[in-house]
Amino acid sequence: MLIWLIVLSVSGLICTAALAYTCRRLHHAAASAQWLAADAVERRFNVLEAVADGIYIVDDALTITHVNEEAERLLRSTSATLVGKRLDEVCDPLGSELVPDIAIARRTGDVFERTCVFPAADRSVEVRIKPAASETLIHLRDVTARTRASTRLEESEQRLQLVTQNVNAVLWTTGRDARFSAVTGGALAELGLCGTDLLDEPCDRLLSRTFLDDAFAGKPVRVEALLGERWLRHHVEPIVDAHYGDVSGAVGVSIDITELKRAEQRAWETANRDRLTGLPNRLSLEESLANVLDDQGGEDGRFAVLFIDLDRFKAINDTLGHDVGDEALKITANRIAEAVRDDDIVGRPGGDEFIVVLPRIAGVADVDVVAQRIIRMVRRPVTVGGRELLLGASIGVALYPEHGRTTRALVSHADAAMYRAKRRGGNVHLHFDDSMEAEITERLTIENGLRLALERGELCVHYQPIVDAGSARVLGCEALVRWQHPTRGLIPPDVFLPVAEETGLIVDIDRWVMEQAVQATCAIRALLPDFQVAVNVSPRALCEAGFGEDVVAAARRHGLPLDALTVEITEKVVVEPGVVPILNRLVAAGVRIAIDDFGVGYSSLAYLVDLPIGVIKLDRSFLRDVAIDPRSRSLVRSIVALAKGLDLEVVAEGVETDEQLRFVHDAGCLTAQGFFFSKPLPLPEFARFLNESALIPVAS
Ligand code: C2E
Ligand code: CA
Ligand code: CA
Repeated sequence: MLIWLIVLSVSGLICTAALAYTCRRLHHAAASAQWLAADAVERRFNVLEAVADGIYIVDDALTITHVNEEAERLLRSTSATLVGKRLDEVCDPLGSELVPDIAIARRTGDVFERTCVFPAADRSVEVRIKPAASETLIHLRDVTARTRASTRLEESEQRLQLVTQNVNAVLWTTGRDARFSAVTGGALAELGLCGTDLLDEPCDRLLSRTFLDDAFAGKPVRVEALLGERWLRHHVEPIVDAHYGDVSGAVGVSIDITELKRAEQRAWETANRDRLTGLPNRLSLEESLANVLDDQGGEDGRFAVLFIDLDRFKAINDTLGHDVGDEALKITANRIAEAVRDDDIVGRPGGDEFIVVLPRIAGVADVDVVAQRIIRMVRRPVTVGGRELLLGASIGVALYPEHGRTTRALVSHADAAMYRAKRRGGNVHLHFDDSMEAEITERLTIENGLRLALERGELCVHYQPIVDAGSARVLGCEALVRWQHPTRGLIPPDVFLPVAEETGLIVDIDRWVMEQAVQATCAIRALLPDFQVAVNVSPRALCEAGFGEDVVAAARRHGLPLDALTVEITEKVVVEPGVVPILNRLVAAGVRIAIDDFGVGYSSLAYLVDLPIGVIKLDRSFLRDVAIDPRSRSLVRSIVALAKGLDLEVVAEGVETDEQLRFVHDAGCLTAQGFFFSKPLPLPEFARFLNESALIPVAS
């Protein structure tokens, strides 16, 4: 029994032990399963935590079971708060708003993707919802930085596109075959090109192949070239292979600079061209002349500079206005240009002056031919506004090398020669010689002195009697201006008056002489009531606006009856446009008009009929020869007869001898003037002469 008991106990013990073992085993198995499960969770947890993206998991009932660290940040909450909550209780962003998306994912079994943008927070999150059997994994990736970068890229691409489409340029690349591999840019349409059409086409359609050759040789190219009528500036660079350093093609920008070129051209024209005639201006002429000097200025070189000044242009401008003057200048400019060869240079330095440079001449005769042709062309009547105008040309010639070896010397010597030509009466050309330079210097001295002469009271008026040729009775006088120069003494009018005429100072001088003469005559008339006065008026003064009115006003102011006044004008004046109404107004006021120096100037006598002339003053050159030359005598007789027929009074000028007086008187000339009676005298002496005039013998 004991043994049984022992056996039993032992077996019991064994059983107990076995049971315990089994239990322990069972327990162990459960523990290890638990451990394994926990391990998996932990690993999954670790994996989830290790992932840089945000992840949270919801179970079937949408209860949050897991939230990793990044998801905490994106959901702006903590795992402790979130786990165990139902997703629809979790506030947005990225919480309850995803519930409908999760439903879709679960229903379709597909991954659902979308990007949530939170503009206020400037944040973008990519959401991927991955449904599984019992749980759903929500994967959140913060793509804010990436989105921003791509937005920026997109924007800059858009901007670039905007620029390339609108910039007045073509942007292009070519391969080594010089065919376009890419072409874009806003200038294409303007150039009549299309980007897609140009692809694989040779570059010649836009720029010359030679520019690319330079780029292929590794050199950047900057070049301006015409494409049809448009100007392009090409900037070309080689495309260098980063690995091998080879040039694989070229990249370029071709900018349309047509407008820029036009503006440049306009600016150049403003600086170099005369606006009225389109001819080279002074600046441009100087440059061209310097170039000619460089080219032709050698030992054997010969060229000519012609300085042209228009005769009578000022009068046209002053009386008919600048519009007429401008038109006349344009026509004349064309004629001068027509008169020379294409490679000769014609320019307008200013006013009514032109310069012609003949860069290649065989001899002096060539120059004379051209100068004469210019004069002929300029003399042809010009019709402006239905009116026929007569111009002339005075030309001075300077030859290289004999008349100057610098541009300045040549121009100034041609100018000096022109000045002499002008004084010869115009419509001639003269070559420079040394005496002309002295003349120019003298002229400048006179001009400067004359400006001050009036102010300083250096001018005075002398009076020369005009007498009855039969009785020698003094009828009146002619007022003649004198310049008493402080150092040079008395300067005769024919020295300073041409300068005064040219500079316009004559207008003031004539006005002043008129005033003096009117005043003196009034004083004389107190004693000799019929006493007359004749005053010379230059063409320039006569055409000056208001001059005629001033004459009348001066006479009235001093109380001189207008029929006691004669205005002496030269034959030159009568062809000035606009002069007829001026003369008519004077005559209407009672003033007499005399033609001075009759017979030397203008060849037509028609004006004697057309103009309101009362007196002709026979030029003294006729009287010089009457003693010896029968033809002069018959000429004087004819003129006097003609004048009588036209009811004109004739004054014989320059009567120096008794014989001359007798002759003119016999010829029918009733009035005379000359040294035979008296030289022009200062007023006090003239008054004395009048007192004594009864002593003068009467011609018989
Ligand atoms: P002109 O109008 O023909 O004046 C007459 C000129 O002949 C005067 O010269 C006078 O001195 C000169 N003369 C008079 N009788 C004789 C003579 O018998 N023999 C010689 N050989 N000469 C004689 P002048 O004073 O030297 O004047 C020269 C010219 O200057 C004038 O010629 C006139 O055209 C101009 N002139 C003079 N004063 C004025 C003026 O105040 N205004 C204008 N615009 N011109 C004037
Ligand atoms: Ca006179
Ligand atoms: Ca005269």
